[in-house]
Amino acid sequence: MGHNDHVEDDGGFSDFLQEIIDGGHLEGAALGITKLAIDKGSDALSAKQRFVFERDVLGEFVKDGCSRCESNIPWSEMYAALDNGGLCNYCWHMSEKIKHE
Ligand SMILES: [Zn+2]
Repeated sequence: MGHNDHVEDDGGFSDFLQEIIDGGHLEGAALGITKLAIDKGSDALSAKQRFVFERDVLGEFVKDGCSRCESNIPWSEMYAALDNGGLCNYCWHMSEKIKHE
């Protein structure tokens, strides 16, 4: 599971979670659990909360890798990747460039 590697190493992970919240993508239990994860870290979640977090938040919003070059997408680029078809920043710029040529 690549997701767990991401969670261990924050590197913008909480900012990414905050972006999902700010975008209005979460509600109910998933929203509360995500706020808790930002506040206390995802390690503070109970087994039940973690299950919901992984299924409804990570499972929905996290890409395992760029859909073009398959490299890992950093947390700082993850939210944008949701919008551009799952591309890393590099591939997204490449595809934009091709479009405009
Ligand atoms: Zn890429």
